[in-house]
Amino acid sequence: MKKAIGIDLGGTSINGGIVDEKGEILSKFEYETGKNFGSYEVLRRIALVIQELLNHHSDIEIIGIGSPGFIDSVKGRVLVHGGNIAHWAGTDIKGILEKRFPNRKIYVENDANVAGVCEAWYGAGKDFQSFIMITLGTGLGGCIYTKEQGIWHGHNFQGGELGHAILYPNGRLCTCGQKGCVERYVSGTAVEIMYYEETNQIKSSKEIFKVYEEDENAKKIIHEFADNLAIYIASIKNIFDSEGIIIGGGLINARYYWWDRMIKSYNDYVNNPVGMKIVPADYLNDAGIIGAAKIAFDNMKRV
Ligand SMILES: [Zn+2]
Repeated sequence: MKKAIGIDLGGTSINGGIVDEKGEILSKFEYETGKNFGSYEVLRRIALVIQELLNHHSDIEIIGIGSPGFIDSVKGRVLVHGGNIAHWAGTDIKGILEKRFPNRKIYVENDANVAGVCEAWYGAGKDFQSFIMITLGTGLGGCIYTKEQGIWHGHNFQGGELGHAILYPNGRLCTCGQKGCVERYVSGTAVEIMYYEETNQIKSSKEIFKVYEEDENAKKIIHEFADNLAIYIASIKNIFDSEGIIIGGGLINARYYWWDRMIKSYNDYVNNPVGMKIVPADYLNDAGIIGAAKIAFDNMKRV
């Protein structure tokens, strides 16, 4: 059976794995991203993860990488926005890594698109003809997917950036330069900012969800988060009317605290709640590795 390497480049760590054509991970390796050290150091660390995996499976010829930011998936490079990795914008990921690994083909895709491809392959999206994927982690990522056409990239590879739709005009300043992006109200970072604004205390989103029952401020913020997400999903439904919407990313682990309220709130806000199914993602931690490997398999078939 054919195998590929899938690399999930996150703000904290680089997770790599060997994946077979059934979507099974055969082995894994993880290394710290070093996101503040600049693009060359991050690329050096990605190469280190790839090399470690190749040491055990030297016959692998294709490598898929899921990266934050606006990604030109044809050229394999980062465009004007590099997400939360310092100096990542403009980085020629494919060009530099193919020089480092001359006998291998490297394919790069936006990280939320990679998560969407994973769900379409064997996850919550496998029976949907069309779906929108939202990943709730440090930020809010998005993927627009149809079975017929695959990922919608947009004319300039800047489509499907669902986190940068403006929810509140002139609201909080976003890393992308706009004000009031939905990512600043619906994400792990957003929950942390809102908690800080309310209490002057710094807590991680994980800690904030944990104290939901006993901390009135935490409860208020999580309700706000759920309502903002519901309002946003109502807009998504009206724009796309996709068969499904899949919600994934790290915050889905805490869905006990917000999912039911989000659904109720969505039903209150939306003009017609019937139709688009709202479901949690099947894959969480491994979506990036599996989806990135799938990108590599699909690209290889196109050659
Ligand atoms: Zn933004």
